[in-house]
Amino acid sequence: MPLGRPDWFRVPGPSQAKDSKYQEVKRSLSDLNLNTVCEEAQCPNAGECWGGSHGTATATIMLLGDTCTRGCMFCAVNTDSKPPPPDPFEPFKTAEAVNKWGVDYIVLTSVDRDDIPDGGAQHFAHTVELLKHGRPELLVECLVSDFQGDLSSVETLAKSGLDVYAHNMETVERLQKFVRDPRAGYKQSLSTLEHAKKAHPQLYTKTSLMLGLGETDEEVIQTMKDLRAIDVDVVTFGQYLRPTEQHLAVVEYVKPEKFDEFRVIGEKMGFKYVASGPLVRSSYKAGEFYLEHMIK
Ligand code: SF4
Ligand code: SF4
Repeated sequence: MPLGRPDWFRVPGPSQAKDSKYQEVKRSLSDLNLNTVCEEAQCPNAGECWGGSHGTATATIMLLGDTCTRGCMFCAVNTDSKPPPPDPFEPFKTAEAVNKWGVDYIVLTSVDRDDIPDGGAQHFAHTVELLKHGRPELLVECLVSDFQGDLSSVETLAKSGLDVYAHNMETVERLQKFVRDPRAGYKQSLSTLEHAKKAHPQLYTKTSLMLGLGETDEEVIQTMKDLRAIDVDVVTFGQYLRPTEQHLAVVEYVKPEKFDEFRVIGEKMGFKYVASGPLVRSSYKAGEFYLEHMIK
């Protein structure tokens, strides 16, 4: 029998924010053929993120289409071994749209595209270059795949001018094979984060884990140690939520106090920033966190 959500766990409905920047982003999305994770996932944080409740707006755009070549057990995205080819004009459209929105922090992400020789690294890099050319002060985070461990793809992106290189570990080492597609792996993910930092030491590197999949405290702490050993700057922890009955079941609803405990441990280990809470998502208000915690 599936585990019911405890009383204290509440997911707010989609935001109805009236903020003018939020409305502006929402309006222009309907004119452009671009996908945002914020809308696709009906993320309840959109009002706060797009509106930038403390002055820094964040939005997440999905590049390279909506169909993934992998099939992770926790993810509800469409999958196909041969998705349609990427739109070559997407980098230009993205730069044009983002400049129009006037957001301060943009997260570019994508499905995994193992069918493209460089995994889409050049497509990302080109988008970053155009964004930075149009507005050098815009902060750009790319949340990317492991590029099948291809370090030259990692380097292409790391040197493109982005500010934050993000790649999600998703879970602890022992649970990788039950949670992620078999082409992904703990050591492979660590190696891409390590290489991004080596290729461009001024970059911030960032990763996220879902909790509630059956991991132990010791395993979470060991993962944090492994991340600090390769100088990862930011880690986020959020509760895993099962998207449909066909996906991996939730093993546990981790209590807010436990999330706080991991945040304190992570801060003591030397991460520049740890976001940890049941509803924390990788890109949640990333711009505000960046300005508050990372730019000195
Ligand atoms: Fe979903 Fe990413 Fe896994 Fe693709 S690689 S199935 S987008 S989590
Ligand atoms: Fe978009 Fe991420 Fe913010 Fe949700 S948390 S609104 S997906 S930027």
